[in-house]
Amino acid sequence: MPAIDLHSHSLYSDGSLAPGDLCRLAADRGVEILALTDHDSIRGLPEAAEAAAACGLRLINGVEISAMWGNTLVHVLGLNVDIRNTALQENLNTQAGARGRRARLIADRLAALGKGESWEFVLAAAEGDADRVGRTHFARYLMDAGHVRNLQQAFSRFLGDGKLAAVPIPWVSLQTAIMWILESGGVPVLAHPSRYGISQTKLRALLQDFRDAGGVGMEVSSGAEKSNVVQQLAALAVRFDLRASQGSDYHGAHMPWLKLGVFPDLPKTCRPVWELF
Ligand code: AMP
Ligand code: MN
Ligand code: MN
Ligand code: MN
Repeated sequence: MPAIDLHSHSLYSDGSLAPGDLCRLAADRGVEILALTDHDSIRGLPEAAEAAAACGLRLINGVEISAMWGNTLVHVLGLNVDIRNTALQENLNTQAGARGRRARLIADRLAALGKGESWEFVLAAAEGDADRVGRTHFARYLMDAGHVRNLQQAFSRFLGDGKLAAVPIPWVSLQTAIMWILESGGVPVLAHPSRYGISQTKLRALLQDFRDAGGVGMEVSSGAEKSNVVQQLAALAVRFDLRASQGSDYHGAHMPWLKLGVFPDLPKTCRPVWELF
């Protein structure tokens, strides 16, 4: 089976590598098929395609859409989307615009909390484009300025849901995110289902709603997932008749626990999502 990594980030969201460098690193690490899935952005994909062609890597055009399932923030991967689809482009621009406005508000909150001027730092890390600035950029600022010990602490104290500098964004609904992906010819995959902090009962309800709205796959193996969790997720994929996906969720050196091309093997019971493209 080829080495396949269907979840990764670049400088077009909260990753630290340019799309071309990401593709070259993937090829160096033995990855044969890579999906670039930036948060609410498909803008890095043309650059990635050029580099991928040059290094013999097969690139899957992807995106990771932020969406609301009730009050729970979830991430929906769109794999193999058509990046020329203008509706998808416009809808993602709307999400990105909200991200940019939130960034300014988070910077103001942090300043009011006496945590200094984060704006210059986050803007520089996002190549001057406020619409790419995510909470990870602020977490890196807080760590760099010595206000927290690590990224996790930045989220648990300041940036996580309901914390001191949290500013919610009215992301689209789960159903709408799935529709955008389907209408652009892509395959909707629920990202890292174990990371939403919800009960097993709620997770089953989420998977049912995801399936009912046209969702096709779920990430069974992702990043630093423990192998017993991968087994549980594989059983859920079978139960809800969802295809299985796998990916590292690589971001760069600031998240050293996520390594490009590295994640547990998919259990044999899974039907791989990549058979669809
Ligand atoms: P955003 O889309 O800007 O709201 O930021 C969400 C991103 O923050 C996720 O994709 C992760 O990369 C990162 N993130 C969320 N929670 C944590 C955490 N507890 N520790 C480290 N990174 C996190
Ligand atoms: Mn991220
Ligand atoms: Mn995610
Ligand atoms: Mn991700």
